[in-house]
Amino acid sequence: MYLFYKYKQGRKWVARLPHDGDLGAELEKFAREQGIKVGRVEVIGAVKEAVIGFYDQEKKEYLALKLARPLEILNCSGNLSLKDGDFKVHLHITLGDRDGRSFGGHLMPGTILFAGEAVIEELEGPELHRGYDPQTGLPLWEKEH
Ligand code: ZN
Repeated sequence: MYLFYKYKQGRKWVARLPHDGDLGAELEKFAREQGIKVGRVEVIGAVKEAVIGFYDQEKKEYLALKLARPLEILNCSGNLSLKDGDFKVHLHITLGDRDGRSFGGHLMPGTILFAGEAVIEELEGPELHRGYDPQTGLPLWEKEH
């Protein structure tokens, strides 16, 4: 295991997210306003359209898939930490269509809310920073520098 920190439960919020807001950006804005440096997030609701990513491990880049239609947020969960001195949310999302089919991936900018209900939990303990990891090409959590 590369990294292991212990946290205590901090503050908890239930939030109604704004219609027409960008899902990831709204959560980062909330984290910034409240000063949530480490935490976990859970969202259900619906989107007007979505952009989800799949990480190509060979090319070390995200392939984006745009879903330009209304979908249910069946599940969306992830975490909050810090990257480049700012608040960063990392979310994965599962979306469902009217026929019950589902799509999922790494949440990307351009996922526009119709309605969203979030539960946000702060974790109290060491700051958690993301930095470039050469093995994966991803901005992973790293030891405090
Ligand atoms: Zn991801």
